[in-house]
Amino acid sequence: MIVMKFGGSSLATAEKIRLCISLVKNELARHPLVILSACGKTTDQLIATAKAAKQGQVDTDALEQYHRQLIDELNLDYRVIEPLISQLTTLLHGVSLLRELTPRTMDHIMSFGERISTRLVAAAMAGEGVVASAYNSFDLGLLTDSRHNNAIPLSSIEGEIKEQVGQIDPVPVVTGFLGKDQQGNITTLGRGGSDFSASIFGAAIDAEEVQIWTDVNGVMTCDPSVDGDAQSLPVLSFNEASELAYYGAEVLHPNTLIPAIRKHIPVRVLNTLNPTDPGTKITVEPVRTERFAKSIVYKEDVCLINLTSPRLMSAVALLSNAVSELTRHEVGVHMATTSEATVSLVTDRHYDEAYLEEPINNLRKYGEVEVERKKAIICAIGQELKGQVGVLGKMFTAVAEKGIKAKMVSQSASELNIAFLVDNTEIEPAVRALHALLLNDRE
Ligand code: ASP
Ligand code: MG
Repeated sequence: MIVMKFGGSSLATAEKIRLCISLVKNELARHPLVILSACGKTTDQLIATAKAAKQGQVDTDALEQYHRQLIDELNLDYRVIEPLISQLTTLLHGVSLLRELTPRTMDHIMSFGERISTRLVAAAMAGEGVVASAYNSFDLGLLTDSRHNNAIPLSSIEGEIKEQVGQIDPVPVVTGFLGKDQQGNITTLGRGGSDFSASIFGAAIDAEEVQIWTDVNGVMTCDPSVDGDAQSLPVLSFNEASELAYYGAEVLHPNTLIPAIRKHIPVRVLNTLNPTDPGTKITVEPVRTERFAKSIVYKEDVCLINLTSPRLMSAVALLSNAVSELTRHEVGVHMATTSEATVSLVTDRHYDEAYLEEPINNLRKYGEVEVERKKAIICAIGQELKGQVGVLGKMFTAVAEKGIKAKMVSQSASELNIAFLVDNTEIEPAVRALHALLLNDRE
């Protein structure tokens, strides 16, 4: 069996959905298990709709119209998704009455994206002569912990998934991104989590290969919407790909590769719009290129927290207190630096800006807290960075020439990445400057 995962952009229009179906048809002999994201930007829209409901406004028109158009253009019956749309509307009314939107409710609301896309695409497949049925991943054994919005699959689920998948007829069309906790609540695996689902299913069924279908020619040297000169990378090691995903390359979800690495299942990132392109193969063995790194990535909207202790608490104690405070609130820390009495931490973005308020207030008991929002991590990734002399200087000069001052430089012990912080507004010039360096410069 193989796993074929299609992302939101590959499912954004009726025409693109037909393309995905034709790709599945080509692979029928290899028994595909299909994993889907929500169509287009549905998840973003669901989040916006949920937030509006919390303010007392229930409006599902845009979502309904978008899906209705897909249904019409694919000659399907609206009844395929109607029950889901009405459940969503009821739930949103509940939120608007209570004016309360917990992470658990947000997960439930976000789940409609994938539950709708799988119903819709399975029906469209049937229309194209492919026998297919839609399944919720959680009904096939994908159980997680209860960390809503960022749930982690339980370690013992593979046997159950294998057994469940073994009992169903081809072609299963399964929801990405979703799980359920042991209390039966729907959970989600973090934004972009459908890749993770693909790799979890791939590992559980011992797939021959996991194919991640997206709208670019695999993993690129940088985000092609930031620099049109971006090129695709034919090969990337698992470790590089994990770093790349961790630091924000939208093409892969950070945890995607772990189940696949464990089982040595090859992962390929392919382009739905250009299916004959070989895309990027993710391998165990690292491959060195002649460039100083393989890719320049960025993560926007992160937040910088500077904590200074007037009581001369040691930096180590300060760091440990700060990190445990943030972890207790499930705030991820991406970078950390220390000086004698100051600790600087960079935390992840979140759909709710207010989520940092409580942990930040709690940090004030250790010292003075300064918060800078709307920052971005810019990161060069590649095993070429290992042992390279003078690379930092080259990178800094390149961004400094654009008038950008890089802050909080960090290089991990693995030497697979060099990261620093800039303002959100400096992403484009910084990425372009480093990318030009990457394309033109030789080690
Ligand atoms: N639909 C989810 C998201 O937008 C999961 C995914 O696309 O992988 O984050
Ligand atoms: Mg994605």
